[in-house]
This record gives sequence, structure tokens and C-alpha cells, in this order.
Amino acid sequence: MVLIYALVVLVFTLLGVLLSPLAAQVGGTRPDETIPAHVAELGLFGLLLGIMFVAIAGRSALPLVVATPIMTALLDADHLPAYLGYAQPIRPAHSLIFLVVVLAIVATTIKALDMDLIVMSAFLGHLAIDSGQFAPFSPVNFSYFQLDPFNISFGVCALLCALAAGLVWRSRMAQGAGT
Ligand SMILES: [Zn+2]
Repeated sequence: MVLIYALVVLVFTLLGVLLSPLAAQVGGTRPDETIPAHVAELGLFGLLLGIMFVAIAGRSALPLVVATPIMTALLDADHLPAYLGYAQPIRPAHSLIFLVVVLAIVATTIKALDMDLIVMSAFLGHLAIDSGQFAPFSPVNFSYFQLDPFNISFGVCALLCALAAGLVWRSRMAQGAGT
């Protein structure tokens, strides 16, 4: 699941560079010295989501506690071109289309609703922490919107997804044990 997520981040990063109009290629990186703090912030909120999931799901889900922080932080791999000195659009994988694509791939390959909910939780958790602009329909459309007004809603949705994932996992395990 984490691998699928990472691959789709890279594909969207590449598509962003290839498909965005020149005028939209204004993506940059934050100042180097602030990167560790931002990644730590993302990782910690991701970990909180992971802990909420495991708290509901039970001990059998414990190895998955790291999946949310990893995926929450990993979304920022879409800043890679700018980091390497290439022009790129702002946050090409911070996109609702990205979310739909990852969810579709996870749903068809892993076929477990709780895993989809974990992906959604990690993605929304990331958008809850970020500030500034993002292109919600990248790589189809690179109109930029301000993220900040949605931070709290995204955060609440991320928490609800983590809780829902825990409930689904729990009932899946109970069913498994019953058969
Ligand atoms: Zn980000």
C-alpha cells in the first residue's frame, strides 16, 4: 500500500512537470532549515492518526501504525523536481485526482476498505498540516487554491477516516476469527 502510494506520488510529480502550463510552474521548496520541522510535524500528525487507527482496530493492527506517518510525510516527495533545480508546478500530488487514483488502485489490488481509509486518512492528514497553495485537480488543471481555510476540515476528516479504518479492521478480524 505504501509502495503504491509512493509510486503514484512520483507519477503525479512527473505528470505535473510534463502537463502543467509554464505559467503554473512556480512550485518551489521551503527554506532548507524549515524542512525537518515540517516533516516532523507531518510525521507526528500521521503517527497520531496511526495510533487512533490501532487503538480502535486492536493489537493485530499494530504493525500498520507506521503506515500513516510514512504516507503522510511521503506526499511531499512531489517537491523533488524543485529540490533538484527543475521548474515544476506547486504540489502536483496534493491533488484530489491523486487521491482518487490511489484509492482506485488500492481498492482493486488490496481489496480491503480499511486500507483505503488509511490512505485517505494519511492524505487528508497531510493537507491538514500544509499551508499555502495547492492545485486540487492536478494534473488536469493547475488552478491554485489556498489550503489554509480547509486545514481544520481536512484534519477532522483524517481523524474520522482513521477511526473508520479501525472499525472496519476490527470487524474484518472478528469475521475472520468466526469462520
Ligand atoms: Zn505538502
